[in-house]
Amino acid sequence: MHQVELIFSCALSSAASLTDNGTLKVDEFLQVKGQDNVFAIGDVTDINEQKLAYTARLHAEILATNLVAEAIKSPKTPYTPGKSSSNLFFA
Ligand SMILES: Cc1cc2nc3c(=O)[nH]c(=O)nc-3n(C[C@H](O)[C@H](O)[C@H](O)COP(=O)(O)OP(=O)(O)OC[C@H]3O[C@@H](n4cnc5c(N)ncnc54)[C@H](O)[C@@H]3O)c2cc1C
Repeated sequence: MHQVELIFSCALSSAASLTDNGTLKVDEFLQVKGQDNVFAIGDVTDINEQKLAYTARLHAEILATNLVAEAIKSPKTPYTPGKSSSNLFFA
C-alpha cells in the first residue's frame, strides 16, 4: 500500500474550493467544487455534520461506489449527511 508523505498546496487553495475556515467545499457526490476529478472525504470537507471517523467511513463507501459508477457510466449516489449521529464508536 502506498503511503502519502506530503501534499503540496495546489489548485485546491482557490476560493472556489475552500471555505473561510479552510475546509474543502464538496458537492453531494463529494466532488470538490471548482475542480474536475478531485474528491474529498472526512474531516477536511465542509459537510455540515459531526466530524467523526464514522462519517468519514460513510464518505469513503459513497465515494468508492461513485468511482465505480463513473467508470461504468451508471448513476451516482449522493451522500446524505446526518443519517445517524448515534452510531458513535469509541476506541
Ligand atoms: C480526541 C478525539 C477523539 C475522537 N473520537 C472519535 C470517536 O470516538 N469516534 C469517531 O467516530 N470519531 C472520533 N473522532 C474524530 C475522528 O478522529 C475524525 O473524524 C477522523 O479521524 C477523520 O478522519 P480523516 O481521515 O478525515 O482525517 P485524519 O484522521 O485527521 O487524517 C488526516 C491525515 O492527513 C495527514 N495530513 C495532514 N496534512 C497533510 C499534508 N499536508 N500532507 C500529508 N498528510 C497530511 C494527517 O497527518 C493525518 O494522518 C475523534 C477525534 C478526536 C480529536
